[in-house]
Amino acid sequence: MNLKTPGIVIKEQKINQGDKLLTFLTRDHGVISAYANGSGRPKSRLAPASELFAYSDLMLFYHRDRYIVDDADIIEIFFEIRSDIEKLAFASYCAELTASLSPTSEDSAEFLRLLLNTLHLTAKNKLPVSVLKPIFELRSLSISGFLPDLVACKGCGEYLGDEMLFSPLEGALSCGACRKNEDMLSTWIPLSEGVLSAMRHIVYSDFEKLFSFRLNRAEHPLLMDCAEQYMLAQTERTYHSLEFFRSVFQFQD
Ligand SMILES: [Zn+2]
Repeated sequence: MNLKTPGIVIKEQKINQGDKLLTFLTRDHGVISAYANGSGRPKSRLAPASELFAYSDLMLFYHRDRYIVDDADIIEIFFEIRSDIEKLAFASYCAELTASLSPTSEDSAEFLRLLLNTLHLTAKNKLPVSVLKPIFELRSLSISGFLPDLVACKGCGEYLGDEMLFSPLEGALSCGACRKNEDMLSTWIPLSEGVLSAMRHIVYSDFEKLFSFRLNRAEHPLLMDCAEQYMLAQTERTYHSLEFFRSVFQFQD
């Protein structure tokens, strides 16, 4: 079956001299791998569309159990991301997490919108990475079947107790009183009111409002820690690009 769909490169592998195997997140068909013959050669008409983060209107041919990129009309390449090591590290992590969560065709339009907006805001310096990273993690996981329950304490239903804690493993909240009755094995992270409110916003808000919330800079590290711990506990794997990101990321005051 031949496909015509917009899609973004989330992984590129050089396979022969001049050929690449590309992995796309497409709008309509989830994650698809396709061969782009000759795209590694500088003069190839497919070269610009075969770079990581290139977003194009794709024509994919299906032939002998594999997809081949027949044509790609570039929509956006996010070139500013390549000029900054921290942006590049963050965007690479978004791409690797996307490939790992591998959205189905049912979820791919919403996931693609999240990824494109995150890359755009990163490229244009519209929001700091210390906010974009937790937004991307919590929202992409929520889309992909890892929706945390941030409504209330799982023990007593308290919406906002004196002390509220989050378990990355359980994806749930506990108030301080109920926490005392829990087993001591799993990790519970004490939340500030601002971080709890930000996490609820990221998980439950309409997409149009997703990127518009306020959180004091001093609370960004806690939000980042909660989202990353949740991502690691739920996906149960490590990410090379996350290690790279950690080695270059610095908090901005
Ligand atoms: Zn409780």
